[in-house]
Amino acid sequence: MPARAKPEKPSKTPKARTKAAEVLSAACLCGGVEIETDAPVFWAWHDHSTSSRRAHGAAYATYAGCWKSKVRVTKGGALVAEFHDEARGHVRRFCSRCGTPVMFMRGSSPKWINIPRALFAGRTGREAKYHVAIEELQDWAYIGQAVGPLKGYPGVMVEKTRKPARTKRVMLFEA
Ligand SMILES: [Zn+2]
Repeated sequence: MPARAKPEKPSKTPKARTKAAEVLSAACLCGGVEIETDAPVFWAWHDHSTSSRRAHGAAYATYAGCWKSKVRVTKGGALVAEFHDEARGHVRRFCSRCGTPVMFMRGSSPKWINIPRALFAGRTGREAKYHVAIEELQDWAYIGQAVGPLKGYPGVMVEKTRKPARTKRVMLFEA
């Protein structure tokens, strides 16, 4: 019995083979620095460490981890300044005009450039579902508690506090 021929794989069209990677664009607050990388980024992660918290002035920083070889500064290279965090072996780059952190390189990972996730207006192809130094999450960080409008302050929301369970009033003194 003749062996059944394997179904032929659909051949790739030359167009599909030469298709350029989707380009992701990131920019600082003033727009002076623009960075590009190819989609998807390698991974996306939340960094709760003290150094990233301070460098961003925020509860934590969220980064898109990219291959260094795929990151290109397409505008404003002269505006990019560097801080060498020698104690930790990190390098942090920021826009010298508006102060936005634009790149974070860890000494232990020389092939990676971490770009703050918030600099990308669109999607990066990776969900930020990894956490580094989660044990340093601050008790003042907002982690999705229920909020409601604050009366008299349009646009301001306040966290809803749960009413404490009613406890029986203990009479210390008899009337
Ligand atoms: Zn800037």
